[in-house]
Amino acid sequence: MSAIFALANQKGGVAKTTTTGILAAGLHKQGFSVLTIDCDPQGNLSMSMAADNQSGATMYEVMKGTVTAREAIQHTAACDIIPANTILAGIEQELHSVGKEMTLREKLRDEESGVADDYDYILIDCPPSLELLTLNALCAADSLLVPVQGEYYALEGLSDLMNTVRIVRRSMNPRLELEGVLLTMYDSRLNLTNQVVGEIKKYFADKVFRSTVPRSVRISEAPSYGEPICYYDKANRGTLAYQRVAEELLERNRK
Ligand code: ADP
Ligand code: MG
Repeated sequence: MSAIFALANQKGGVAKTTTTGILAAGLHKQGFSVLTIDCDPQGNLSMSMAADNQSGATMYEVMKGTVTAREAIQHTAACDIIPANTILAGIEQELHSVGKEMTLREKLRDEESGVADDYDYILIDCPPSLELLTLNALCAADSLLVPVQGEYYALEGLSDLMNTVRIVRRSMNPRLELEGVLLTMYDSRLNLTNQVVGEIKKYFADKVFRSTVPRSVRISEAPSYGEPICYYDKANRGTLAYQRVAEELLERNRK
């Protein structure tokens, strides 16, 4: 059975997509089989991995049930992906059934066409909202990874996210765990960052990853290369930081 992680935070621009791509590639490089799922209609993950999200099957068809999860998988330079594009934004209006939050979980774990047994890790990149697509990811996942950018309003969003997690646990996915909070675009020279990090550590204690990811221009340029940075710039400090995050993740999941 795969370990399924949702990377969620309803704030945009906190490095959910960046973290999904680099972490997935890092795990893949260590010899694990990894599937990423683009759950964001913006399709940033698909584009950054040069997946075809225009002519092939996407998450939209998977959620609608016209294509199976397995059929929608594409193989990229780094790891496998089920891509997404803007059409996915309409799914909220199109799924009507009771329990539609469980759609993705059912698709991934379907006995015949599901992929939950095919990979070591499945990483789901969520959109910047707490609505249906993110709920689907939280219901499908074993564990939640929250990228956070050290800034003034960081904590405010997190309490809403944790409320959503409580609701999901209560009614839909009781075993959902909080894997951890990852500080991204971290700059220890900024007083503000240190203040916010202090607050986050007070609230989340040992759930905060020991490794942090520094701001790096090379990381922000990476999406245009169509493959994760760890494939072509192994010495970059962002690459090395994500390597440590991957190690920490593996260490935590060995226990
Ligand atoms: P989200 O998916 O949460 O909206 P992204 O992963 O798209 O966030 O990141 C937002 C922006 O910040 C992107 O332009 C990305 O390239 C950039 N970015 C992410 N992580 C870093 C980093 N460590 N250093 C510099 N830029 C980063
Ligand atoms: Mg994103």
